[in-house]
Amino acid sequence: MGYPCVFDGDSMTSDGPKEKEPEMGEEDEWQLFASAGYASAEAVVESEDEPSESEEEAWFDGDDIEANGVSLDWDAPPCPTPLGIAHMIKLGVCDHCLHRVGGRRTKNSGAEGGKEIREDAQARNPDIAKFGAPELCPLCEDLFDDVGNIVSRVAESVSGVQHSTMQFGIHLPKDLIQEEDRIRSRHGAPGSRPLKSAFVDAIQADLSNLLSDVSFVKENPDLMIRVDGLTLRVDIDIRPVFLYSRYRKLSREIPQTRWPCRACRGRDEGCESCQGTGLQYPDSIQDLIGEPIREALNAEDTSFHGMGREDIDVRCLGSGRPFVLEIKNPLVREYDLEELVSMVNANASEKVEIDSLEWTHKKRVAKVKQHRSEKSYTIRFKTSETQDEVKAIASIEALSGTVLEQETPKRVSHRRAAKTRKRKVVSVGKVAVEGDEIEITLRCEAGTYIKELVHSDEGRTVPSVSGVLDCECEVLWLDVEEIHD
Ligand SMILES: [Zn+2]
Ligand SMILES: [Zn+2]
Repeated sequence: MGYPCVFDGDSMTSDGPKEKEPEMGEEDEWQLFASAGYASAEAVVESEDEPSESEEEAWFDGDDIEANGVSLDWDAPPCPTPLGIAHMIKLGVCDHCLHRVGGRRTKNSGAEGGKEIREDAQARNPDIAKFGAPELCPLCEDLFDDVGNIVSRVAESVSGVQHSTMQFGIHLPKDLIQEEDRIRSRHGAPGSRPLKSAFVDAIQADLSNLLSDVSFVKENPDLMIRVDGLTLRVDIDIRPVFLYSRYRKLSREIPQTRWPCRACRGRDEGCESCQGTGLQYPDSIQDLIGEPIREALNAEDTSFHGMGREDIDVRCLGSGRPFVLEIKNPLVREYDLEELVSMVNANASEKVEIDSLEWTHKKRVAKVKQHRSEKSYTIRFKTSETQDEVKAIASIEALSGTVLEQETPKRVSHRRAAKTRKRKVVSVGKVAVEGDEIEITLRCEAGTYIKELVHSDEGRTVPSVSGVLDCECEVLWLDVEEIHD
């Protein structure tokens, strides 16, 4: 069994920290805990463990609560009064906590400051002097003795990991938090620093002496440091870095993201049909762009977040399709971007191109994924009957400005809900008729199924090019000419 724990800036469970890579969204959850701060800890204590009324009466009447053999004196005024300080000393609080809850101005801070307060009190009242070294501090259970140990563990774990910011999450047993809060709010100086924040302060103060270039932040850290105050286990979570760009896809044989092999479902060792790669297609835009970057940043893996995607056999030209590349667990976080661009273009030569890269943040992922924009296309198709050129051009041009009704195409019906979408053909540009082949350029609303607009998907798209020409149309190829972002 474990101690019940109050979470503060942490998503670990009392059974131990999560081993696996954080899922998307976990960071947000964690930020929530972190910014909720101490208030959330109090709320948890109250809602989960509210003392009943009779318990509360017993608490005040009985006066039978002891710490280090001394009954609590409920009539004692709180710190920073001399009586309050004396009371804290009698309870056996450590120097660190005495400084934290004493509310006195001291020359030093931390344990040294507490020692000053203790010596002052002893000088004022020799009675107090007979309370020697405390056994176990009722406020922190001597947690502050572990600061040095934790600091050296943190320093050791982050060496070799490039970083400039850190955020701490501390995990303490709930009953300790609860007891500390009771004593501090009754006897501590008003506004005293709660245990967790004081503990984090102490760690950070010592750590900045060791690592000169680090700053401590409350959100978007490079490194998230999770400390379990019970086991003293330290876990380092290297936060991902994000790069924004737009890609041009010059090949008709590459999927946007990695596709696991259909035969073996992408298992590690692969199978015969995928030649041991585990992949259905040897290349993907994700890896052509992502792999050189992953290697340069000494990272574990990538995720690819595109602003939509084109079919494998569709090229994407013009200024390209916006995307965010997420680089997971990078040991390097700073790199010359022009150099990365050259490395990507050398690796993806003739297949994929990028013009630039910019550092961005996680929020950009959702923005890119949710964004919808009009697109211009060139599409070439074969007609089942040779068309009269003038009539064909006029019929196709007449589609400009019309609103299509598109039932979910058959080819995607296994993964898209069946419904009818209304999409506008914004404009029809050039129409070229060459025998039984026709090439058109057109601009459509986001989400238009272009191939279906041409061949009609057996009448599921109305109107359609096939419909107005009154013949069958077979798509030869399709290019995205521009994404109007
Ligand atoms: Zn203490
Ligand atoms: Zn396979």
